[in-house]
Amino acid sequence: MSSEEKSNGNDQSNECSSNYEDISYQVYPDRTGKVTSTNWAENYVKVRCQSKIGKAIESSPLVKLLMSALKSKGCEIDLNRHIVCENCSEDVTGGYDTSANQIVVCQNRVYTQQMTQAVIGHELIHMFDYCRAKMDFTNLEHIACSEIRAANLVHCSMVSSMFIGTTKPWNIASTHRECVKAKALASLMAVRKNFPITEAMAVVDKVFDRCYADLEPIGRRIRLNSNHIKWAYRERFHYDYDSMF
Ligand SMILES: [Zn+2]
Repeated sequence: MSSEEKSNGNDQSNECSSNYEDISYQVYPDRTGKVTSTNWAENYVKVRCQSKIGKAIESSPLVKLLMSALKSKGCEIDLNRHIVCENCSEDVTGGYDTSANQIVVCQNRVYTQQMTQAVIGHELIHMFDYCRAKMDFTNLEHIACSEIRAANLVHCSMVSSMFIGTTKPWNIASTHRECVKAKALASLMAVRKNFPITEAMAVVDKVFDRCYADLEPIGRRIRLNSNHIKWAYRERFHYDYDSMF
């Protein structure tokens, strides 16, 4: 599973900026405004995607917690405005477009309710980081940090728990770290053409410990099928989040 944000071109004013070609326009073709499709099959796929988003917002404690956290930071989400369904290339399942402040769920790549929740959760972490810190999405260290956080708080927490049965209990922590590192690396490279893996690894390694330890706004690493996310949602008031649901 892969989810990436769309970056805003190549600002080279900062030494950490990406010098590699931004291929977001290939990865998210619908963003270019050049693709128009009105056939019924496409419409069906879009409506299916939208209904899964609606259900995620209604029923996923993770999604509700993140939306509540965003609201408390002054970045309230308007469903019709901020989360959209589009077609994407096969490299990604979702994205966060900072210029439009919009989350893209890849309607042609995301089929299940759980995947929809994971994609929205991942992208909401990026949106939260952008809202909280006004992070610079042309700065590779900022991007790597947000990818580490999204992998840590959403992707690897949901996925790694599925592997617990095959993982020695004393290995779970390091396996989770490895999952986060691998996922952040993949996300960092997905929308940058010919970005060397050694360079991507160096960026991820540099910021890893700090960003891995930053658990805001969830406050804990969650495990699927556990009560962790329910506890986190219940305890959201400790973080001063408004209740919106
Ligand atoms: Zn991402």
